[in-house]
Amino acid sequence: MTTTALRPAAVALDGITRTYSSRAGDVHALRGVTHAFSRGSFTAIMGPSGSGKSTLLQVAAGLDRPTRGEVVIGGLPLGPMNQTGLTKLRRTAMGFVFQSYNLLDALTAYENVALPARLAGQRVDRAAVLGALQRVGLEDKAKRRPPELSGGQQQRVAIARALHLRPEVLFADEPTGALDRASGRQVLELLRAAADEHGRTVVMVTHDPLAASYAHSTLFLADGLVVGRLDRADATSIAAAMSELES
Ligand code: ADP
Ligand code: MG
Repeated sequence: MTTTALRPAAVALDGITRTYSSRAGDVHALRGVTHAFSRGSFTAIMGPSGSGKSTLLQVAAGLDRPTRGEVVIGGLPLGPMNQTGLTKLRRTAMGFVFQSYNLLDALTAYENVALPARLAGQRVDRAAVLGALQRVGLEDKAKRRPPELSGGQQQRVAIARALHLRPEVLFADEPTGALDRASGRQVLELLRAAADEHGRTVVMVTHDPLAASYAHSTLFLADGLVVGRLDRADATSIAAAMSELES
């Protein structure tokens, strides 16, 4: 057996179902998803609107509870944890990057990157915060506030913030959705480097086949199930697989 086989997955989804109940009836957002995201992998999640992508990310991050099944992050099952435990785990073991950056405009780039450490009650390591800004190419913008930065620069601050506590997993929801091509490319290269050079595990929801082509593999969701997977695929083959799902 290789050491890879013995290493636990960074994120494991085991038989996840999520059913939303309402008077109008049940909506089966996830209908039994099992997948192991190995450490250092970069995975894109694609699928038609309503296929369960957002639900999958929310459940994997412990922001929503599965109806059935178990999520395990870094060997820790989320099911038995209470809200306080989940919040603590999110602050230390997970990073988040959103389409809308979600930075605080009143804080400088430095203060935004330092915020998760502050919220987790940790001492802020100045060199680590500046190092995180340096890795995203913004060491000279540490004192700027988000409104003084371009969209691409703001998203790079968000990436520095998400990565500087060295989380087990980085969840990204349409991280390039609001960016022009060139800025989007920088962001995707940073996510890829986080996996390849720093061993972070990256899970990214995207609509864009070109964005997905930066990932090591792409999972396709349809009607709450994983219906396909492409490894090391180019944008053209990912787009072809998507249009097949949507037809
Ligand atoms: P995607 O992100 O792929 O567009 P979602 O995960 O948002 O898909 O939604 C999957 C399904 O679950 C859809 O049918 C959606 O309408 C439904 N759904 C999502 N959130 C809720 C909710 N809070 N209450 C009821 N139904 C929901
Ligand atoms: Mg969605």
